[in-house]
Amino acid sequence: MAANGTASGSGTTSFADRVMERLIAWPGVWGAPAVCGVGAGFLHISDDRQFLHLHAPNEAQLLLTRPVIARLRKPLVETGRVTVQPGGEWVAVGLHTDTDVALVVALSSVAIKAVNNIIGTRQPRCGAADRLHLDAGGARTVLRRWTALLGAGDPRRS
Ligand SMILES: [Zn+2]
Repeated sequence: MAANGTASGSGTTSFADRVMERLIAWPGVWGAPAVCGVGAGFLHISDDRQFLHLHAPNEAQLLLTRPVIARLRKPLVETGRVTVQPGGEWVAVGLHTDTDVALVVALSSVAIKAVNNIIGTRQPRCGAADRLHLDAGGARTVLRRWTALLGAGDPRRS
């Protein structure tokens, strides 16, 4: 790997890009514009709901759901990388190192299973639209990168 933990969002591969590259290599996973309107969302073929949002080059949110967050709260918080909002269905992970990328990829597996256990068809809101500090430029960067990746790698386009 050429970049050595110093990637930023501009011109180089961001940590969000690395998450994307890893996830779209998984069978049954694809990307779409995030339903919250900020950045890219990811779905697994087992469910119509998005389990991961990449809102900015340095931020991911995972739909772990309340029961799973209740069960995993302590280890999640102890990573020092995961922000758990009280009563929330989503957790936020800052993407600043390769370890963060690995954490988000590992938690994506948990999120895919958790989303399958949500009763009904609702998509819990991630609340990103309510968060004023989100950088719209960053979200556009994520989306642009996602579009490029899918264009290159989507197996449904032959
Ligand atoms: Zn979102």
